[in-house]
Amino acid sequence: MAIIKTEEEIELMRRSAQMVSKTLAVVAEKIQPGVTPLDLDSLAEEYIRDHGGIPGFKGLYGFPNTLCTSINHQVVHGIPDEKPLEEGDIISVDCGVLMNGFYGDQAYTFMVGEVKEGVKYLLEVTKACLELGIQQAVAGKRIGDISQAIQNHAENHGFGVVRELVGHGLGRKMHESPEVPNYGKRGKGPKLVKGMTLAIEPMINQGTKNVKQLKDGWTIVTTDGRPSAHFEHDVVVRDNQAEILTTFEYIEEALNKVKI
Ligand code: MG
Ligand code: MG
Repeated sequence: MAIIKTEEEIELMRRSAQMVSKTLAVVAEKIQPGVTPLDLDSLAEEYIRDHGGIPGFKGLYGFPNTLCTSINHQVVHGIPDEKPLEEGDIISVDCGVLMNGFYGDQAYTFMVGEVKEGVKYLLEVTKACLELGIQQAVAGKRIGDISQAIQNHAENHGFGVVRELVGHGLGRKMHESPEVPNYGKRGKGPKLVKGMTLAIEPMINQGTKNVKQLKDGWTIVTTDGRPSAHFEHDVVVRDNQAEILTTFEYIEEALNKVKI
């Protein structure tokens, strides 16, 4: 059963969500060739702790770090390492924060320098999938409405939709009911109720939908080696329109600043 949040709880969730968004903006400013995922991880951990939060992923199910950093054909759950980013890479940075008893959880896929047009397109389509999914997160609809909106948009562009990993309810726990798959059928699945809080997170592959886990026990990669993108927002189901608790605004401000 999904947990319905009060307005007071939603306010606390908004603070955690905003803290994640600000952390991702700090990361955004540093992304360039030569920087290592472990550098980004240290920055993120320091920023979160300096602002009264606790890294939400560190120690969760035994994950070792603050960020999941997934590069190119890595889909999600990559462990930050010391291999420098290279021009043309993409890196999905997923971050969680626990503050005042509630989690925030957000991901953004960044380009490192100039990226191939096809890869840029994959990022645009994946971001649009997220927006279309969020448009369906309205009271009275069903989880399948979100799922189908995401799946249709991705597959209409010839991309593969990851099945094994899904979005989720979010709150006092990082993963609550219900699951929010990125594939499914309109009108199916649990009904959306006002006050439900969801992390919606399409993981879209340029090629096959198929993925596998590496021997590190964490990193998920595409089986064909082609790139994968991942964007995530935390939302509250409302009567007419979902409310988005996280934001890409700080991240995109930071990215624009870097360009100038
Ligand atoms: Mg996440
Ligand atoms: Mg999530």
